[in-house]
Amino acid sequence: MKILVVASLLLLMGTCSNKRHSEKVSDLKESISFDNKSNVETYLNTITEAELKEHLYEIASDKYAGRMSGEDGHNEICNYLRAHYDSLGIKAPNKYSNYFQTVPKSYLPEELNQSQNVIAFIEGEVFPDEYLIVSAHSDHMGVIDGKVYNGADDNGSGTSALLEIAEAFKIAEKNGAKPKRSIVFLHVTAEEHGLYGSRYYIDNPAFPLEKTVANLNTDMIGRIDKRHADNPDYVYLIGSDRISTELDFIVRKANDEFTHLELDYKYNAYNDSNRYYSRSDHYNFALQDIPVIFFFNGEHEDYHKATDTVDKIHFESLRKRTQLIFATAWYVANAENAPTKEVL
Ligand SMILES: [Zn+2]
Repeated sequence: MKILVVASLLLLMGTCSNKRHSEKVSDLKESISFDNKSNVETYLNTITEAELKEHLYEIASDKYAGRMSGEDGHNEICNYLRAHYDSLGIKAPNKYSNYFQTVPKSYLPEELNQSQNVIAFIEGEVFPDEYLIVSAHSDHMGVIDGKVYNGADDNGSGTSALLEIAEAFKIAEKNGAKPKRSIVFLHVTAEEHGLYGSRYYIDNPAFPLEKTVANLNTDMIGRIDKRHADNPDYVYLIGSDRISTELDFIVRKANDEFTHLELDYKYNAYNDSNRYYSRSDHYNFALQDIPVIFFFNGEHEDYHKATDTVDKIHFESLRKRTQLIFATAWYVANAENAPTKEVL
């Protein structure tokens, strides 16, 4: 009898907490809404296939010799990136006033020369000391056996996306829609050798990590994998619900409102053998308990091959994914509160 009482009490408590949980989830979901949809749409539409193409054809061209960290080609692409920010009037951080954060040779694997992350930012109007970081690695594999590894998808696609997202935010700012929080555009180096550039940033942050509210990372968002051969309107989301359920709900809401892609969580599974969650630069932010989203198109037959060329990029998908990242960034940068670090 006693046992029975305890058991039914437990059952009752279980039901109560379940209810509380589902209420919490639906309250959180309902709390997320875009205030000025047409405003977001206006700036999202400044992200065009033509401009993505222009950047990506440049970045993935032979003249950058596969963008090997520390080599001339990669240094030149870093110059291209900072020229873009400079021409748009997007500032460099005080600490790195020429946009370059030098990563010394001593920090890198022996075979690499000194290199640099490129950092630019738009200052927030209401919470200038809170930072959203949008990131992409700028390096690739160089020249191997006389073949240039152009890395159009890996990661010319994410690099081009960042340039377009930054421009859209800058146009908004010029029209009086300055973001509430600061938005940092971070192009990291030496990802291909083991996420060195992002780790260096974590060890030497341009802006305080405790004030960094989220990291949206893009690495390979320009191709279609076999799994989605019949539906190019998709993107894999990895990590979005692991530190902040709210951040995951934000990206879903942004997608519902603006981009209508299939959000594929296959690789987000904890037991996924590919372990993509730990394989790109967002992981270094996640290790600091900063909410992250990794945007990814999945692997394809040209992954880490000389055949990852720009003619194979699906620019419509690249545009839509870039727009999703922009809308998500818009929400995070303009919400009253930063995404709560709570997993429901
Ligand atoms: Zn990559």
